[in-house]
Formats: sequence, C-alpha cells, structure tokens
Amino acid sequence: MFPSLGSNWNKAEFVRVGFVESKQEKDYMICFYHHETQAVGVCKNCGRGICEKCAAEVEDSIACLNHCEKKAGEINNLVNKNIERSEKYESLGAGANYRLATWIFLMGVLFLIFGFYKENMFLQSFGVLCFLGAGVHVYNGFKYKITK
Ligand SMILES: [Zn+2]
Ligand SMILES: [Zn+2]
Repeated sequence: MFPSLGSNWNKAEFVRVGFVESKQEKDYMICFYHHETQAVGVCKNCGRGICEKCAAEVEDSIACLNHCEKKAGEINNLVNKNIERSEKYESLGAGANYRLATWIFLMGVLFLIFGFYKENMFLQSFGVLCFLGAGVHVYNGFKYKITK
C-alpha cells in the first residue's frame, strides 16, 4: 500500500488525508447541551460550544445560559477593571504633564545658556532636546484635557 512509507513525503500526505477526513465528519461545532444542534458560538467562561437556546448574552460575548452567565460577567468585570487601571497609570493628567513640561523647559534653558557660555555643542543640543521633550508633555497634557 505504502511502498515508501519511510519517506517524509508519504508521511505528510497520510497526515493531510487524515486531517481532511476528520474535518468532514464534524463540519460544524455542536452544542454541548444539545448534541443535535449547531453551536452559534463559544462560552466565554468554559469554552464549550453552545447553541442559540443555550447562549446568554454577557456584554459583548456569550456564555452558557444559567451555567456560566455569572462567571462570564465576573471575567468581563475583571478585564474592564484592568483596562481602567492601566489607563490611569498611562496618563499623568493634564496638570502633571504641564508641570513636567515646565521643569524640562527650564532645564533646557539652563543647558542652552550654559552650552553657549562654554561653547559646547553637546550641551546646546541637549538643551534643544529638552525643549522637544517639554513640547511632547505639553501635547500629552493637551490631549488628556480633550479626552477627559
Ligand atoms: Zn460555559
Ligand atoms: Zn444548546
């Protein structure tokens, strides 16, 4: 049947055929609770396939009706809390950004004056960099004010 069973090519072909056959057997996912019914989606909590009758809508996802509803809701709350938390840490707020910008700007002025006094190109360019950094923080503060 397989005269050169040892060769890689035949092995690959054999696996491919097996894969196609098993896929034809279960062309669609079935409901975990009704084995005759086609599933419309996957439960957010347990990952089982569920049909239209068994699916309870939990915000933007679905869960097993009366089985996983609560837990899926808890998962959603947890995710939302994490998103809120990370947003708080990411943006310093308008006031903090402006204060930071002022300090960086003053530092830039000092570096620039000192750079020209000492005729040091490195200090001069560092002063310019400080101005750019201050500009970024002013922009961040401005953006924060718009979104809040
Ligand atoms: Zn479930
Ligand atoms: Zn069902």
